[in-house]
Amino acid sequence: MNKGKLSRPAIDTKRRDLLKLAAASAVGGIGLGTTTASAGAAGNAADPLDVVIVGAGLSGLTAARDLRRAGCESFVVLEARDRVGGRTLNHDLGDGHISEAGGQWIGPGQTAVADLARELNVGTFPQFYEGKSVVLGDEGRMEIDLKGTFGTDEKIAAKLSELSRDVPSGAPWKSKRLAELDIPIGNWLAKQDIKPEDRPGWNSTFTLTTGATPGSMGMLHFLSMINSANCRYEQLEDIKNSAQETRFVGGSQILSIRMAHQLGDKVRLSCPVRRISGWDRDVVTLHTDQGDVRARQVVMALSPPLCQRIQFEPALPPARAALHRAWPAHSPGRKTATVYKRPFWRDKGLNGHIFQINGELLWAYDNSPPGGEIGVINAFLANARVPSEPKAANEVLTKIYAQALGHEALTPVSFHEHDWAFADPWTITCVSAIPAGFWPKHGEALRPPCGKLIWSGTETAEIWAGYMDGAVRSGHQAALQALNVLRRV
Ligand SMILES: Cc1cc2nc3c(=O)[nH]c(=O)nc-3n(C[C@H](O)[C@H](O)[C@H](O)COP(=O)(O)OP(=O)(O)OC[C@H]3O[C@@H](n4cnc5c(N)ncnc54)[C@H](O)[C@@H]3O)c2cc1C
Repeated sequence: MNKGKLSRPAIDTKRRDLLKLAAASAVGGIGLGTTTASAGAAGNAADPLDVVIVGAGLSGLTAARDLRRAGCESFVVLEARDRVGGRTLNHDLGDGHISEAGGQWIGPGQTAVADLARELNVGTFPQFYEGKSVVLGDEGRMEIDLKGTFGTDEKIAAKLSELSRDVPSGAPWKSKRLAELDIPIGNWLAKQDIKPEDRPGWNSTFTLTTGATPGSMGMLHFLSMINSANCRYEQLEDIKNSAQETRFVGGSQILSIRMAHQLGDKVRLSCPVRRISGWDRDVVTLHTDQGDVRARQVVMALSPPLCQRIQFEPALPPARAALHRAWPAHSPGRKTATVYKRPFWRDKGLNGHIFQINGELLWAYDNSPPGGEIGVINAFLANARVPSEPKAANEVLTKIYAQALGHEALTPVSFHEHDWAFADPWTITCVSAIPAGFWPKHGEALRPPCGKLIWSGTETAEIWAGYMDGAVRSGHQAALQALNVLRRV
């Protein structure tokens, strides 16, 4: 982010002061968690707000924070849920401990989210991986020290890294090798001479990273993700020196919670935007469950498939509407947290990481707090194979953990789970699994604003799209766009 630009007064002082006054009276009744005040009070017909931000995830809150830092007080953040954080969510495990149900790790190169954490005084600590991982397969149980990797085939990783150089992270559709690389990654893998016993490992890796099987995941998009990671497959997929290296003290949702506290009554919860009219005019009207809000600029800080659920009047330009319709709208991420009195597996030289070949687990890992005061095993599940009912799921998982880590695993203290596919209607994509053929058709419609609508959210980031870092970057970018337009008006 160009902080120099943002810290300059974005609008001339006189106008800013007027806007501040207007904003103070307009949004005064809007409190964090308040549901009684009319949204119409925020940006009414006579006095539209400068900016309305839709979505209080990392992108929307970052944008709001930047507006305030630039001296703009005439804005409000409208959030559908009764909480902030979007795809980041802390499970409360009691006694001040949490486990992350959504996005949780950051790694090298993810400087935007790391900077944000520093500014908010949120500490970080390393993901635990010291010791041996356990692989459960048809032939039984095997312990292996993967040294912070996922045991990747170096030859294939090197080829993918090399190919990623030709796929710009911010515009995969501009790749010089489009025709060759715009294929399902499964087609490419099939030609790589992978041993049959190694195939399940590759399938799990793609499902974990993208939420899709190699057959439905586009190679172009996956290469654009590697491109974000400094063109190094390992920097995307491993733990050590990679995107799964670092956790936040207090869980990733703490970033949004702290930003929302700083923003106070600028954040309005339980306020879904259902319809947006007049986006092609000077002042846009957002119709919410709590009344109408009017604004000069609108930052859409949510994923494209969620935009598809909002009614636009007039209809959006065909290219943008088609992007909304085509964006993969599924969130297969089901994450569980099984809590133990202690991380007992560490005493046995195990790191709590479990891989199961063709089983219920994609990957389980040690998600204990920084001091290891309690033991937590988190897991990503192969959902179709695990009972949907939490008690039954817990039984299935503890048996697997016992096989991997010892009989102590049979007696957890508690079990928590979050299935993003069914939890609520406000997340319909976890990390986007963009299929082959998508980018050449829809890429050009990703970022250009439509009238007063500025598209934000992690999906629009130039690097680390799909990640928390991308969300923060997209928030900075959207605030800058809004401020630049307001300055010109
Ligand atoms: C299971 C899982 C694991 C992940 N793991 C990682 C990880 O380890 N590392 C990483 O970097 N990233 C990870 N991610 C991705 C990361 O969490 C997201 O990229 C990031 O949080 C997205 O932030 P955002 O602000 O762009 O969108 P969101 O967080 O989706 O925010 C959008 C907000 O808009 C709100 N909204 C939607 N519709 C409306 C409406 N009509 N009106 C008002 N508000 C609306 C939503 O409620 C939401 O709060 C993971 C995600 C999931 C789900």
